[in-house]
Amino acid sequence: MNCRLSRTPTTSGLDMNSKILEWKSLLFVLGLLVAVMSMPVYSQESAYPNQRRMMVEEQIMSRGVTDPGVVKAMGEVPRHAFVPDPLRDRSYIDGPLAIGSGQTISQPYIVALMTSLLELDGSEKILEIGTGSGYQAAVLSRLAREVYTIEIREELGEKAETTLTDLGYDNVHVRIGDGYQGWPEEAPFDGIMVTAAPGEIPEPLIGQLKQGAKLVIPVGDFFQDLLVLTKTDDGVERREIIPVRFVPMIGEIENQKSQKP
Ligand code: SAH
Repeated sequence: MNCRLSRTPTTSGLDMNSKILEWKSLLFVLGLLVAVMSMPVYSQESAYPNQRRMMVEEQIMSRGVTDPGVVKAMGEVPRHAFVPDPLRDRSYIDGPLAIGSGQTISQPYIVALMTSLLELDGSEKILEIGTGSGYQAAVLSRLAREVYTIEIREELGEKAETTLTDLGYDNVHVRIGDGYQGWPEEAPFDGIMVTAAPGEIPEPLIGQLKQGAKLVIPVGDFFQDLLVLTKTDDGVERREIIPVRFVPMIGEIENQKSQKP
């Protein structure tokens, strides 16, 4: 009994020690948790060049867009710089992504396909309607001499302009406004690309094409077709490429529609 009694304080000392230890480890774990939570969100920034290379091989070349200029531009332009922060790590997925204001940056394959359909040689002055994030304009700027791009939503146009300037794409000119009437002061163009879908082709854009130049445009309401219209001596040649799904073109085009019987 005595013996046991005399051992009791020693046992309590041990308990105390292990309790302190428990508290210490608990504090350590808590500290670690706080440290991890206050760290900046981990970004895959260093993985982007590799993801971009895979995007070009697996989404673009494998689907038949092999024009060397287009492949090079798609491999060089940092798509992630045009994607909003929360979605940045998904920049190189095989699909469109939200860029705010209910709009999207197109799927990489569609950007590459539409670019290749303009058949550029580097000497062209191009018009784009629907700047959005500015990504398509940046890709075009690697393959054409000058790119003029119009965005109807001020907040998107301003953001795109900042991104393009920061990245040094100085042959891209952004205008905020309705692209329905094109950019008369800079017309005619060697090619026009529309990246929002009108229900029908905006006539003024045809008027701003040089002879032999192409208009690449998605046309339709819910079901849309990607069309290539080429201005020839005999009129306008029309080629249907593939079914697509773009955000609708808004502004003056909507009045044109409502005026139809
Ligand atoms: N090319 C863009 C994606 C385009 S999304 C990119 O690379 O990110 C389509 C864009 O067209 C949207 O930003 C939308 O606001 C714009 N748009 C719609 N109607 C327009 C019009 N009438 N004139 C100019 N831009 C228009």
